[in-house]
Amino acid sequence: MAQINDDYLKLPGSYLFADIAHKVNAFKENHPEMELIRLGIGDVTRPLPPSVIKALHKAVDEQATAEGFRGYGPEQGYRFLREAIAQGDFASRGVEIDPDDIFVSDGAKCDLGNFQELFGRGNVIAVTDPVYPVYVDSNVMGGRAGTFDGKGSWSGIVYLPCSAENGFVPSLPLKRPDVIYLCLPNNPTGTALSRPELQRWVDYARGNQCLILFDAAYEAYIREDGIPHSIYELEGAKEVAVEFRSFSKPAGFTGLRCGYVVVPETVKARAADGRMLPLKPLWNRRQTTKYNGCPYIVQRAAEAVYSPEGRQDVRDNVGYYMENASTIRGGLQAAGLDVYGGVNAPYIWLKTPGGMDSWRFFEALLNRFGIVGTPGVGFGPSGEGYFRLTAFGSHENTRKAMRRIADAGHWSEWKI
Ligand SMILES: *Cc1c(COP(=O)(O)O)cnc(C)c1O
Repeated sequence: MAQINDDYLKLPGSYLFADIAHKVNAFKENHPEMELIRLGIGDVTRPLPPSVIKALHKAVDEQATAEGFRGYGPEQGYRFLREAIAQGDFASRGVEIDPDDIFVSDGAKCDLGNFQELFGRGNVIAVTDPVYPVYVDSNVMGGRAGTFDGKGSWSGIVYLPCSAENGFVPSLPLKRPDVIYLCLPNNPTGTALSRPELQRWVDYARGNQCLILFDAAYEAYIREDGIPHSIYELEGAKEVAVEFRSFSKPAGFTGLRCGYVVVPETVKARAADGRMLPLKPLWNRRQTTKYNGCPYIVQRAAEAVYSPEGRQDVRDNVGYYMENASTIRGGLQAAGLDVYGGVNAPYIWLKTPGGMDSWRFFEALLNRFGIVGTPGVGFGPSGEGYFRLTAFGSHENTRKAMRRIADAGHWSEWKI
C-alpha cells in the first residue's frame, strides 16, 4: 500500500476564503437588494495591456510556420527574455545580474513553494507575521514546521511580528533562523522598507549565515524614492539572497502565468559534510527535472513588458490601481480609521476600530455597507485586530464603496 506524506496531513484546511464565501453567500440571501462590492480580491481585474496582446498574437502566428514553430524550450527560459529581464529590471537600476542566474517560470507562487525542496528538513524557517501563506504551508509540506498549535502558529517556525507598534517593520529575530522569507512591498500590510532598513537584514544574514528568500512581487507598485526595488541594490545581497518576481501584478499575467527567480552563483548553503555549495546548480537540476518551461508565446508576451510601450502599459496599470488605493485610504481616514499601506503597494491595511476583532469588523463592513474585505487574522496571529482591502477593483466600485462609508460618517456613528 502506498504511504502518504504525513506532513500534508498536518496542514489545517484553508478556511479563510471558504469562510468569507460562506458569510457573503448568507448575506446575499438575506439582502438580495444590496449590491456587494468586493474589495478583498487578490487578483487583478484590468485586461492584458495592448503591448502584451500584440506580442502574443505575433508569437502565436509564428507557431503556424515550420521555421517559427517552437517545441520543448529551455527549462530555464529563453535567452531573449532573460536578457530583457537583466537589462530592464536590474541594469536599469544599476544592478548587474547575469542572465544565466535568472530562471523563468510560470509564476512566483510556484517558485516560492518549490524552492524549499533545496533545503534539508532540519532548517529553521522565519516568516513575518502576518504573512503570505505559501511560505509557511510549503515548509509544512517539507516537514520543517513542527506542530500546529490549533490557533495559527507552528512550533518549528520563527515568527517576526509586524504591527502598528513597530510600524509593520519586522525586528531581527532573537533566535537565528537558517532561512528568512521577506515580502516587500508587503502583502498583506502594504509596508515597504527603506534602504537602511533592508540593509540591516542583508547584514544580519551575512553575519549569521542565513539565506533570505526575497519576494518582490509588488516591486512595480513602489512610488516613493529611497525604497529598494530589488534586494540586490543592497551591499552584499548577492551572497545571501534569492529574489522572486512575477509578471502577475504589474502586467496582469495572473491567468497568462510568468515569473522568475534570480539565484546568483554566489549564494551558498551547507551540505551535510560541511562543504559550502552554490544553490544555483541545485535549482537548475530541480527545474530541468521537474519543470518543462514557460510557454514560448508567454515568454514573448513577458518580453514585451520591457518595450517602451510595455513599460507605459505597466505604468498605466499601476497608476490605475494606485488611484484606487488612495481613494480607499482617503475614505477610511475620513471615517476616523487608522490606515496603513496603499502608498507603495496595492494593499490597504487598517486597524479595526474600538477593539473589534478582525471577523467582527468583517461582519460590520459586510452588513452595514455591503463591502467585502479580508480579516487580518487570516494571514497570521499578529493580523488579529487588522483588516485588508485591495486596490484591484474598478474605479467605479471603489468610489462607490467609499461613498457608502462617507455617508455613514465617523466610524463611532456607524450603526453596527
Ligand atoms: C500575487 C503574489 C505572488 C505572485 O504570484 P504568481 O504565482 O506569480 O501569480 C507572489 N507573492 C505574493 C506575496 C503575492 O501576493
